[in-house]
Amino acid sequence: MLIKNESAALLGGGTNLLDLMKEHVANPNELIDISRLDLKAIKQNSLGISLGALAKNTDTANHLVVRKDFPMLSKAILAGASAQIRNMATNGGNLLQRTRCSYFYDIAMPCNKRHPGSGCAAMDGFNRMHAIFGWSDKCVAVYPSDMAVALSALRATVKVLQPDGKSRSIALDDFHLLPGTRPEIDNSLKHGELITSIEIPKNGFAAHSSYVKVRDRNSYAFALVSVAAGLDIKEGIINAANISLGGVAHKPWRALKAEDYLRGKAATQANFRKAAEMEMAVAKPLSQNKFKVKMGTNSIAKALELALRG
Ligand code: SF4
Repeated sequence: MLIKNESAALLGGGTNLLDLMKEHVANPNELIDISRLDLKAIKQNSLGISLGALAKNTDTANHLVVRKDFPMLSKAILAGASAQIRNMATNGGNLLQRTRCSYFYDIAMPCNKRHPGSGCAAMDGFNRMHAIFGWSDKCVAVYPSDMAVALSALRATVKVLQPDGKSRSIALDDFHLLPGTRPEIDNSLKHGELITSIEIPKNGFAAHSSYVKVRDRNSYAFALVSVAAGLDIKEGIINAANISLGGVAHKPWRALKAEDYLRGKAATQANFRKAAEMEMAVAKPLSQNKFKVKMGTNSIAKALELALRG
């Protein structure tokens, strides 16, 4: 059904798709209910943990192994949306949610993501919430998920079932795309493909990880800036630092400069701040969101400090 009909959409939890349909932003002519598929399991395995695509966000955040071995993910999920939405939202759907740019939801306004070639109202409009990294002259939107920011820092992969019955794996960092010249394409999932699970490898971050989210109010608000940070520390020296940012780009943004700087360095506040400053030095803010540069610097330093404390 899905393969034959380009206008069909899959319905899991429906927490974003139904909103988009109510606003006439998404107009599928057929909905295929996948909510009863056997993709709800959360299973620990020898490689790490496998999160079923249809497992609810609440069940994932509260799973004992997730809380113990991947606490950053649990914190990130619980920082997102509201309890009611997390009870309905699925892991696969969380990855597929679309931007919350207000112009995208307003069909009276130009928006290249909704209507390619119509322009970008946010470029010279209200862009306080928008991107400071990786944007293009076609789109400056940010990707809204908290969960995916932690999954990026955890180097997760997305397992996908293809129409021919074979499966493929996509690194989380390759799953979401920057806007470039095709902002209408959010991710690398092809029509007819189905996310079956999210795989997270074992890591050495459980003792030193954090998720920091800065937002306008304390609940039910999207991130101005968020940071998922994990440190692997031996005798005060950082073996590995995994850091991803949310609220700053069209996809979870890997803080590669900060990660590179910290590797092999002492886990000190001075090094955390230096790493944060190096990362944010290359940000390209828009007319209304220059504040995100300082906020990002402080948030990265804070997240690393919290991760160190454990
Ligand atoms: Fe549309 Fe992107 Fe511009 Fe928002 S930022 S109006 S989503 S093109």
